[in-house]
Amino acid sequence: MKRMLSGIQPTGNLHLGNYLGALKRFVELQDEAECFYCVVDLHALTVPRDPDELREKTLEVATLYLAAGLDPKKATLFVQSHVRAHTEAGWLLQCVARMGELNRMTQFKEKSQGSEGVVVGLYTYPVLQAADIVLYQADAVPVGEDQKQHLELARDLAERFNNRYGEVLTLPEPLIGKVGARIMGLDNPVKKMSKSAGSEANYIALLDEPDVIVKKIKRAVTDSENRIAYDPENKPGVSNLLVIYSLITGRSIDDTVKQFEGQGYGQLKKEVAEAVVEHLTPIRERYHELRRSGEVERVLAEGAEKASAIADETLARMKEAMGLVPPF
Ligand code: ATP
Ligand code: MG
Repeated sequence: MKRMLSGIQPTGNLHLGNYLGALKRFVELQDEAECFYCVVDLHALTVPRDPDELREKTLEVATLYLAAGLDPKKATLFVQSHVRAHTEAGWLLQCVARMGELNRMTQFKEKSQGSEGVVVGLYTYPVLQAADIVLYQADAVPVGEDQKQHLELARDLAERFNNRYGEVLTLPEPLIGKVGARIMGLDNPVKKMSKSAGSEANYIALLDEPDVIVKKIKRAVTDSENRIAYDPENKPGVSNLLVIYSLITGRSIDDTVKQFEGQGYGQLKKEVAEAVVEHLTPIRERYHELRRSGEVERVLAEGAEKASAIADETLARMKEAMGLVPPF
């Protein structure tokens, strides 16, 4: 059975892009693979955070994992900082990674915007992410398209480690969906929907109330043609709505386009909003039930124990191969 690992940062509000590009697929994969899913709280420290908000968001993401349908009997759910091996393996891989390859990371360039004031962790975080993955000897990592470059780095680091120190690490592959790997911002459909986008009009949060969802979709930027067609390059706004509808309803893009052909944008937006509300309502309701129950904390404690056992074993093998002296 293949092993998978992936994570979501507890930054801002989890949105429809995170759901369609990552979380919904995590749920589908738990039946086919041995899955480890974490809340990557250490990654969230790479930009200034209010400590209380970080605590709150960490539990929120973990609860959304469960509310969206992850089953702790099938998949291991944990918080990254609960498994100490991550920071240690992160350091070991920092001694394998090169400045030149980190300098090429486009996400760093985008998020730092050339400022010298950003923290060093924002620059080195793709290496910690590589550690997250190799510790579990993951074969595949389900992510959205924005993570492709980081996944290539993780694979390169694992390969370099093995070449230098012997075969210890599994080389991971990115697992990126054909459709939905890049849900675009509602207010600016040429950029990806993002937690850190700044404007609430950019995204549908998984916990948005129905009236808010309807309002945001109604205001989504489209174009002035009023012709429904799937053409991401020339009609990014309309195409984004078609992708969202297709993934939420489980219909193909072709069928979705046929269904809406000849109709106006108003009708498209109305039906997309209805489908999204219908899909997210049970998740939101389950979320609020779970948050009150204390179950999440229990699941995370158990998950950390299971994850640590595997991560510690890989970490010991890495240390041994690199020439560190036991006890590990
Ligand atoms: P931030 O802006 O803080 O980086 P984010 O929205 O990019 O937040 P992450 O926690 O970095 O969210 O990513 C979690 C997962 O969601 C990753 O697998 C990522 O590839 C995926 N993802 C993020 N944004 C999108 C999107 N717009 N469409 C599809 N997948 C996405
Ligand atoms: Mg991101």
